[in-house]
Amino acid sequence: MVQVLRIPNRIKRFKVGLSKRLILTALWSAFSFANQDQIQIDYQVAVTTIDKQAQEAITSSGVSESVRDLADRYFRFHQPLRIIFGGDEGPLYDTDQHQVLIPYSFYIESLNYFLEYAERAQTDAEQGALDTLLHTLLHEVGHAYIADHRLPVLGKEEDAVDNFAAIIMLNYIEYGDLAAINAADMFALESEGRPNYYQSYEYIGEHSFDLQRYFSTLCLVYGSDPEAHSELLNEIESELREERQQACIETFYEIDTNWKKMLSDHWLGANQPKL
Ligand SMILES: [Zn+2]
Repeated sequence: MVQVLRIPNRIKRFKVGLSKRLILTALWSAFSFANQDQIQIDYQVAVTTIDKQAQEAITSSGVSESVRDLADRYFRFHQPLRIIFGGDEGPLYDTDQHQVLIPYSFYIESLNYFLEYAERAQTDAEQGALDTLLHTLLHEVGHAYIADHRLPVLGKEEDAVDNFAAIIMLNYIEYGDLAAINAADMFALESEGRPNYYQSYEYIGEHSFDLQRYFSTLCLVYGSDPEAHSELLNEIESELREERQQACIETFYEIDTNWKKMLSDHWLGANQPKL
């Protein structure tokens, strides 16, 4: 039996302008890239009012275009990747079709979590849902990148692509640290209301448990900038905290270095990106 932790009462975080989150750090739009259409984004027709609401929020946020720009800049594909919003399946990466499926309901569910736990999540609900969507998109695109480049995976691929999402957000997205924290919070929110133990089959599941994914993401955020996030891991028992903080600095260094090496070694294009 595993005790499920309650969602932590973390310290109040500083706030930033909501609309600024997805602006990328580099002025890529000023440049043209040879391989612009390597990610194609499709929106299925939204029928219900709630789906229309989700579609409107997603399209106006520019989140999927940000992922496409990131791919142009840092991780290109041999085979063009399709991202399809709508439908009932997902979020998932379909290996056979080489496409990512994200139902509109995924955004709405995230939004509802952030609305329900507004006080604890400490973020605007729409921003929380969009940050969760960004992380999820990058997670699925990470699966696609591994498949497309036939990268060796030594361990759980689900963990590897969670790391991919976090590393991309932390390095290449303005306020990506706050976006990653919101995405991490979503994992904690999802574990709310669960029974206090896991079933046997869950231990052999592909994904780490939600709260492990929560702490793994926070660990990378902390490790990326311990000074800026000095209180991020304060929910860890004080006698273990310093040891974990130190380990997170090392973990970030290792994951960051290794993913950058992967991206560099498998870059498709004339000029190596500045990683
Ligand atoms: Zn996955």
